[in-house]
Amino acid sequence: MPSLFPALTDAPADAPAAGRPALRFGERSLTYAELAAAAGAVVGGVREARRAAVWATPTLETAVAVTAALLAGVTVVPLNPRSGEKELGHILSDSTPDLVLAAPGEKLPAPLDGLARLDVDPADRAPGDRPLPEDRGRDEDPALVVYTSGTTGPPKGAVIPRRAIASTLDALADAWQWTGDDVLVHGLPLFHVHGLVLGVLGPLRRGGSVRHLGRFSTEGVTRELSGGATMLFGVPTMYHRVAEALPTEPELVKALAGARLLVSGSAALPVHDHERIAAATGRRVVERYGMTETLMLCSSRWTPPDPRPSVRADGEARPGTVGVPLPGVELRLVEEDGTPVTAYDGETVGEIQVRGPNLFTAYLNRPDATADAFTSDGWFRTGDMAVRDADGYVRIVGRKATDLIKSGGYKIGAGEIENALLEHPGVREAAVTGEPDADLGERIVAWIVPADHRTPPALGELADHVARRLAPHKRPRVLHLLAALPRNDMGKIMKRALHDG
Ligand code: ATP
Ligand code: MG
Repeated sequence: MPSLFPALTDAPADAPAAGRPALRFGERSLTYAELAAAAGAVVGGVREARRAAVWATPTLETAVAVTAALLAGVTVVPLNPRSGEKELGHILSDSTPDLVLAAPGEKLPAPLDGLARLDVDPADRAPGDRPLPEDRGRDEDPALVVYTSGTTGPPKGAVIPRRAIASTLDALADAWQWTGDDVLVHGLPLFHVHGLVLGVLGPLRRGGSVRHLGRFSTEGVTRELSGGATMLFGVPTMYHRVAEALPTEPELVKALAGARLLVSGSAALPVHDHERIAAATGRRVVERYGMTETLMLCSSRWTPPDPRPSVRADGEARPGTVGVPLPGVELRLVEEDGTPVTAYDGETVGEIQVRGPNLFTAYLNRPDATADAFTSDGWFRTGDMAVRDADGYVRIVGRKATDLIKSGGYKIGAGEIENALLEHPGVREAAVTGEPDADLGERIVAWIVPADHRTPPALGELADHVARRLAPHKRPRVLHLLAALPRNDMGKIMKRALHDG
């Protein structure tokens, strides 16, 4: 298999491309030649390991550590520095790394005591003009073990092979016309596939560059997009902050209007935020949909019309949808009784099942969970429910486990009710769940963060607001007012925590 990062391994240090910027975190940055030499200084210390944990702070150290370990053919286990000790203990005993890579001076918590440690200093340099070994990785080599977000149950370690990384990044390059000239603004953590695979490995594979904000801020976005950056990858909570800031930050409007590509993923982007951003900047945020287990599955495409009969899209972003399947991804919707959905009617709901080179190989140490995740003919069950419109655009209705409410004989997706609630001026944040009801089977429950806590909207008013936009049976029956919704580090709403109190 060719190198994962040709710009790092295949270009001699004196080639013009070697002087291009690769990574910038805050004030510190590395060109391609410097990154090759910094990663080369780490390779010798990890080469003998089978698995290396990386203390994945949003820093240059993490980016160098992951790049070096991958090029040394070692499996990387990114650790979330904000994990509790119990979760860290679980991840370490499950993944049994041989060592942990961390920034010099970084204090590591108790579960890491006793594990060999290698300090990664981006200022170190391996000598020579070819500081990195030849990339000898093979397609099926496990490159990463990434733990799922734990939104629906305890996190599972997904074993991600190199071919999945290469194929997902190349599919996105095709869909987004992503090239070495692109400069990405990045504000996400580095322990999930979105921030790590798309946000760091993606630009390195293309030969482009990344500027990480450290902490996300609208000022940072304005500064970078007005200073030469071309694309922004974020999660819906970030775009929500962008949408809120637009009326008061004219520079931000200008910066977004000039960007080549704005991408949102990891959770549904509320239609209300999508539309506010489009109205103020003239730019549509492109949604992408993926999971730890599958890397990226769908996005709007910018390429010319797709020849596949299932996709008649011309590449425009459509609010409320995640676009169409990426090149190489086979996607089908399957009804509860196992029948594939053949309709492109925007109505018939099915579970998204997928096949393709971007899929993980297994959940680590979980043969039963792995077997359950696949159908007998090799389709991965995502657990997400969706419909497809006449052009093949996929609209996610929600997760089978938490977002599909069966009420009064109807199957109702939480997402469209959440979108409707968010259009109410008295609602700042909204989540919708179902709870048992003697009459209806399940009743719809709305969890609301009011825009103004002194004058929260009443249940009757919100129920009428929803019924006017959707249908009467989609009215919430119960209202809970909250100061904030429980969210994880990616900004995803943890619906399990709502009912647990
Ligand atoms: P766990 O599997 O441990 O419960 P998780 O599914 O949240 O956690 P991830 O793999 O990080 O862990 O997230 C993938 C899920 O996020 C998808 O299955 C889907 O439900 C949701 N998701 C990702 N992108 C989008 C999107 N653009 N719109 C709606 N949902 C999305
Ligand atoms: Mg999941």
